[in-house]
Amino acid sequence: MRTKRTRLAVGLSLLCILFAYSLGFAQIKVVTTITDLQSITRLIGGDKVDVFAIATGFQNPHFVDPKPSYILKLARADVFVTVGLDLEIGWVPPLLNSARNSKIEKGGEGYVDASVNVPLLHVPTSASRGQGDIHVFGNPHYWLDPLNGKFIARNICEALVRVDPDHRSLYEANLKKFDETIDLKTKEWTEKMRPYTGMKIIVYHDEWPYFEQRFGLQVVDFLEPKPGIPPTPSQLLKVINEMKRDHIKIIVISPYFTTESGELVARNSGGKLVTLATSVGANDRIKTYYDLFDYNIAQLLDALK
Ligand SMILES: [Zn+2]
Repeated sequence: MRTKRTRLAVGLSLLCILFAYSLGFAQIKVVTTITDLQSITRLIGGDKVDVFAIATGFQNPHFVDPKPSYILKLARADVFVTVGLDLEIGWVPPLLNSARNSKIEKGGEGYVDASVNVPLLHVPTSASRGQGDIHVFGNPHYWLDPLNGKFIARNICEALVRVDPDHRSLYEANLKKFDETIDLKTKEWTEKMRPYTGMKIIVYHDEWPYFEQRFGLQVVDFLEPKPGIPPTPSQLLKVINEMKRDHIKIIVISPYFTTESGELVARNSGGKLVTLATSVGANDRIKTYYDLFDYNIAQLLDALK
């Protein structure tokens, strides 16, 4: 009799432990479009979140193949985080439609448009909206200003609190830590770039206005004649002449563009082609959102030596 009762007690407490264990370790499933949102979600969610990013850090985020495996991830997700504006317009709507998960659809409690409250640059007026321009709601590459990371982090934090209110204090503490770290590091990064304030540069695609503004650079032209339109000979010639005239030394390219046109311009202008990372995971050294700026600032300073 006694042993039976003991066994029952042991069994019950084991069940309780298992139950508590499963509750404590059931992670919030998050899908983000790009790796930068994944990194920030991890920094806010800690071990309470399991985060999958659809695009890799060395992929052009405008163009991503909507694979069936992504639909499966989205169908099971508690939270979905998107850059928004029109960055992922070619691939997110079809993926969300196929996933049929109302929780993460626009308006659902797990849907996060990371651009909410971000002060946008280059919001076009109807007059300036040119054909071929793929940035029609304002420039969507806003995560390249580390201070915008704080808006992104807050939007993500709010969604985590909505779907998992039990861990509110943890998420909010992590948000505070993130904000403090970003403020501190941004001070260091801008200090390093201070000697180059006002420096003119050329970039391949119009994805640097936020970075440019934060670090005091001046983008004067693009290898693309219009955002999303590949470089043309006449555009490259125009850039070469501008570089010679204004003694511009730096051409910034992203990891997912071919280097031929940039190399041609560098050769003919005496400038240097510098690959900067546009996302976490662009290479092995960039594991977090903080690393992204550590890396890019180091690359620029190295090229300017
Ligand atoms: Zn773009």
